[in-house]
Amino acid sequence: MAKIKKEDLSFVKGAVRLDEPMSPHTAFKIGGPAEAWVSPSDEDDLLNVLRYAGENNIDTFIIGGGSKLLVGDKGIRGIVLSLEAPAFGALVFEDQALTAGCGIKTRELMKKAAEKDLGGLEFLAGIPGTLGGALIMNAGWPTKAIGDLVEEVTAVKDLKKIKLGKSDLKFSYRDSNLKGIVLLSARLRLEKKAKDEAEAEINKNFEKKRKTQDLGFPSAGSVFLNPSGTSPAWELIEKSGFKGKARGNAVVSVKHANFIVNRGNAKAADVKRLMDEIQKKVFKDSEIMLKLEVKLIGEF
Ligand SMILES: Cc1cc2nc3c(=O)[nH]c(=O)nc-3n(C[C@H](O)[C@H](O)[C@H](O)COP(=O)(O)OP(=O)(O)OC[C@H]3O[C@@H](n4cnc5c(N)ncnc54)[C@H](O)[C@@H]3O)c2cc1C
Repeated sequence: MAKIKKEDLSFVKGAVRLDEPMSPHTAFKIGGPAEAWVSPSDEDDLLNVLRYAGENNIDTFIIGGGSKLLVGDKGIRGIVLSLEAPAFGALVFEDQALTAGCGIKTRELMKKAAEKDLGGLEFLAGIPGTLGGALIMNAGWPTKAIGDLVEEVTAVKDLKKIKLGKSDLKFSYRDSNLKGIVLLSARLRLEKKAKDEAEAEINKNFEKKRKTQDLGFPSAGSVFLNPSGTSPAWELIEKSGFKGKARGNAVVSVKHANFIVNRGNAKAADVKRLMDEIQKKVFKDSEIMLKLEVKLIGEF
C-alpha cells in the first residue's frame, strides 16, 4: 500500500499532519507516528475522510483524549481521526438532560453541566479524555458509569448517520457495544443539582483520586481490568511482587500497582514487556489471567 501523501488529503477542510508523533496525543506520552493525523472541521469533512479511506482501503482509527491507549513505537498505519474541532463539542441543554458532542473533554462537560445546575456527571472527575472515549469504555468510578446516563447516541456507521436508542445500547464493566462506529453525540439524562453542590462533589472526587492514583507521571490509568469474584488487579499485581518494577523508564507504580507510569521517554515496548510479565506471573501465582483495560494500537 502506497504511503499517504499530503495532496491525497487536500480535500480535507480541517487539519492534516503526516507522520504525526502520537506521544503528545496520549496520556501515556508514548507512541510512534501516525501515517496521517486528521482533525476534520465538521461532520461533512469527517464523512469525506471516511469515504476516501474506504475507497482506498486505508485503515482509520478514532482517537479521543488518548487516555486509554498504548500506541506502538513503530506508529499507526492509515489515518488517525481526531474529533477535536469545536463542531464536535457542541452542547444542547434541556431541563434535566443534555446532548453533547463526543469530542468534548469530560472535564469541560462536567463543568458546563454544573454551571447550568445539572448534576450526575461528578463521578467523571479525574477520568481524563472525551465523551466519545468515555462511551466506548463505559468509563466510571467507583460504582457509577457513563452508560447509566445515556439515552441516545448519534453515530456514523457505513458512511450513514444513525441514531441508537436505549434498547440498542449495551454497557458493561469498562465496555460497550459501540465499537466499529464513529460516535458523534450522546443525549445524557441528568438531574437538577445546584452548581455549588455539584462543584463541591467534583472537587471531593478529584481529591479522592489524587490520594489513591499515581498522578505524578504520565499513564493510561488502570492497565488491567479487575477480575470478577476475586481480589482487584492491583492486589494480585502487588502480591506477585511487581510494585516498583521497571523496564526501561516504564515503572509499576508504588502507589497503585495497576498503574504503569512513564518516568520519562519510556518506550511502548517497555510498557508492553511489563504488561506481559505481569500477566504471566499473576497467572502463575494466582491462576488468574488478567485482561487488558488499556488498548494497544499500532505496531510495536
Ligand atoms: C490518570 C488516569 C486515570 C484514569 N481513571 C479512570 C477511572 O477512574 N475510570 C475509568 O473508567 N477510566 C479511567 N481512566 C481511563 C480513561 O480516562 C478512560 O478510559 C476514558 O474514558 C478514555 O477516553 P478517551 O477519550 O481518552 O479515549 P481514547 O483513549 O482516545 O480511546 C479509547 C477508545 O475509544 C475510542 N473512541 C474515542 N472516541 C471515539 C469516538 N468519538 N467514536 C468512536 N470511538 C471513539 C477509541 O478508538 C478507543 O478505542 C484513567 C486514565 C488516566 C490516564
